[in-house]
Amino acid sequence: LAKRAGRSTFRYYTESLTTAAQARLSMDTRLRRALERDEFELWYQPLLQLSDRRLIGVEALVRLRQPDLPPLGPAEFIPVLEENGLIIALGDWVTREACRQGRAWLDEGLDFGRIAINLSPVEVRRGGTDERLRSALLASGLPAERLELEITESGLMEQSGQAEQFLGRLRALGVQLAIDDFGTGYSSLAYLKRFPVSKLKIDRSFVRDVPGDPNDEQLVRTMIAMGHNLGISVLAEGVETEAQVRYLLDNGCEAAQGYFFSRPLPAAELRSWLRPMPPARG
Ligand code: C2E
Ligand code: MG
Ligand code: MG
Ligand code: MG
Repeated sequence: LAKRAGRSTFRYYTESLTTAAQARLSMDTRLRRALERDEFELWYQPLLQLSDRRLIGVEALVRLRQPDLPPLGPAEFIPVLEENGLIIALGDWVTREACRQGRAWLDEGLDFGRIAINLSPVEVRRGGTDERLRSALLASGLPAERLELEITESGLMEQSGQAEQFLGRLRALGVQLAIDDFGTGYSSLAYLKRFPVSKLKIDRSFVRDVPGDPNDEQLVRTMIAMGHNLGISVLAEGVETEAQVRYLLDNGCEAAQGYFFSRPLPAAELRSWLRPMPPARG
């Protein structure tokens, strides 16, 4: 319409764009460029077994490294990518890069347990994600059981029936499934029972004021019990203090991640966490 009405109208139209829309527009361009120029990076945060503080896995968290531009965290750019559809391309890149890194560590004889990646609800909703995962696993040579997919509760609850089938196809690939940010959505015990997940990750917001806040203490204990009733292991996110570690251990929580142990690290720095693979038996 603006084009047909001529140049002056077009100028009027662009000038009337809100600042927010303009910001969104340049963010869009910036992210497109980042994908083209391969400017995303994966950093890794250790996941630990609480009883002996053994490394049981690493979570891959995407970072954006663009020279001369202010840093941007995933909480800011993931929603934009979800809205413009580029999350599919980023998700594919994340999957391939994580599989490649996992395979490279294995080839060096380094044990990382499992490598976990985050799946956006958009990837759950759209078809083709299981095919992309299968192809990434095949191309990299990473054994499927070394890969864990983190899906948020809300990502699963959105489209109940389909989600169950989707998770079934993922499990058939041999990958492990974890529920991320547990407690922030609305899943019932009955509902969770139908999903073939092997881990619940208690959202950081519940862990923050534990011990101390009786309400949150109660919620954390309930979530641990829920997991255990389903035969699912429980990991607490956002652990920052020794007191939190103590509380979680005392209440039977198996695993944790958080700044208390380590912040997310570039792959080269994560290496100091990795141990030689135990020799194959037989
Ligand atoms: P998430 O999957 O729940 O990841 C955990 C977030 O908590 C990470 O933030 C991590 O750096 C942060 N964190 C870990 N330990 C602590 C702690 O002790 N204290 C505090 N304050 N924070 C802690 P990050 O890396 O900024 O990622 C934010 C969210 O962005 C992630 O939440 C995830 O939902 C999303 N995300 C990150 N990478 C990807 C990705 O590759 N794909 C998709 N779809 N989403 C991603
Ligand atoms: Mg996660
Ligand atoms: Mg989380
Ligand atoms: Mg989160």
